[in-house]
Amino acid sequence: MQILKQRIQKDGLIKDNQVLKVDSFLNHQLDLALLEEMGQEFCRRFAGKPITKVLTIESSGIAIAYPVARELGVPLVVAKKTQSVNLDGELYVAEIESFTHEITQRVIVSKKYLTGQDHVLIIDDFLANGYALQGLISLAEAADATVEGLGIAIEKGFQKGGKRIRNLGYHLESLAIIDSMDEKTGTISFRD
Ligand code: 5GP
Repeated sequence: MQILKQRIQKDGLIKDNQVLKVDSFLNHQLDLALLEEMGQEFCRRFAGKPITKVLTIESSGIAIAYPVARELGVPLVVAKKTQSVNLDGELYVAEIESFTHEITQRVIVSKKYLTGQDHVLIIDDFLANGYALQGLISLAEAADATVEGLGIAIEKGFQKGGKRIRNLGYHLESLAIIDSMDEKTGTISFRD
């Protein structure tokens, strides 16, 4: 998606050649017009799928997923990160290794909000090693829901998540795929 790539070139900040900071338009301060256009692009890419719920993870997935669910006219379900073990049988739980915080986090969704009748579109901001997506997939599968697709704003193609998720046979769409980035020169190269 050209406008997203241009915005990343203009305002993205590279850290240690591994992490891209997009705080000025996607993660901290939000460009709502851009987010709406991204939402429409996701809807075009997953057109015709019988989606009943959009599933994302707090907190940075919410802003990306909101316009998608709004446009599709379906509920947005937000998987919550929690430290406490409150396993009363009413929750689906997955463990996710955090890319940015280097810890394992527990994510939960109430059984009330995901069921075997649901056809789920999973949305998140970044794809690095694929742990967040795998956690969200396992929550959907624990509910016997059908995963119709996965939409990512920015995939770092030089990390292994994209390959991993595509090899599992899922329909994965990323609006911008970065093949390499260099902190010294500030260069970011995108996949065509
Ligand atoms: P993964 O689980 O695929 O290894 O990492 C994806 C998750 O880590 C995303 O939910 C995202 O919040 C965070 N993340 C991974 N890489 C980056 C990055 O380069 N920049 C930012 N801002 N977040 C990232």
